[in-house]
Amino acid sequence: MNQTYGLIFFLFLFAPIFVFYEIFKKHWADKTLKKTFWIAVPAGVGAVFLTRFAYLLVEFFLGYDLRSFLSGNHSWQYLLMASICVVGLIEEFIKTAVGMVVATLVDSERGSTVIFISLVGCALGFSLIENFHYYTNFGASVVVPRVLISATAHLFFAAVCSVIIAKPNAKKRSDCKISLRIIAGILVASVIHGLFNFMVFYYEIVALNGIMLSIMFVFLLGIYEAWISVMKMDEQKVLCLTGCPGCGSIAFHHSRFCSLCGSRVNVLRKTGMIVEEKKDN
Ligand SMILES: [Zn+2]
Repeated sequence: MNQTYGLIFFLFLFAPIFVFYEIFKKHWADKTLKKTFWIAVPAGVGAVFLTRFAYLLVEFFLGYDLRSFLSGNHSWQYLLMASICVVGLIEEFIKTAVGMVVATLVDSERGSTVIFISLVGCALGFSLIENFHYYTNFGASVVVPRVLISATAHLFFAAVCSVIIAKPNAKKRSDCKISLRIIAGILVASVIHGLFNFMVFYYEIVALNGIMLSIMFVFLLGIYEAWISVMKMDEQKVLCLTGCPGCGSIAFHHSRFCSLCGSRVNVLRKTGMIVEEKKDN
């Protein structure tokens, strides 16, 4: 392969991370969120190696190679089960576990937006290595659309999972409820992940065709909606005087985001007035 082409492709592998970073730029005024992101991405890279180890264990107990099982001649029901219960579950479990460790280390209160950024950062790191793996195995030309597809899909799984996990956390529910939500988040993400893998594999979708573009559009919309809902959950306990780095407005409120432009706000002064807990709908 041409060397320049190879280098361009190699840089392209990092594109999802930098595009995400740029889109979320107005929220990096919050140092905790920024720190979370830059810890979560390498943690996601680490999660890939944990996943490989988990696959090795599964293959050891099953007694056969998973990759050749998946590409073998099986009924679609087998493939679907393997996609959800093995590939989906292992990958989503490890990514979520690593993401939650990052969220807890960075912010012991685990604000909803911190959970979102850590899971999504992990997903980006994870898909980076996955794409690199495909790149070395199949070459640049096959993999270019896959970078976009894989990064968007992993982001979507992580976004859905983080919304499910962040909800009881934001309302200060018991640990038991939070644990149940984490399990629910992992299960839902595993099912979506498995269904998506199955579809790509079964219908041999390797390029950005019409179906794939529609799915990507739905995924992007889902990621956006997930971010909006974790933003709404993320509130400060006390009323604060806040300054917005995005539009310069100064306001008294308990939200961590600017109501005018959506940027993460800086707390200028805490008033000490405790915001009343919102009642459930
Ligand atoms: Zn603003």
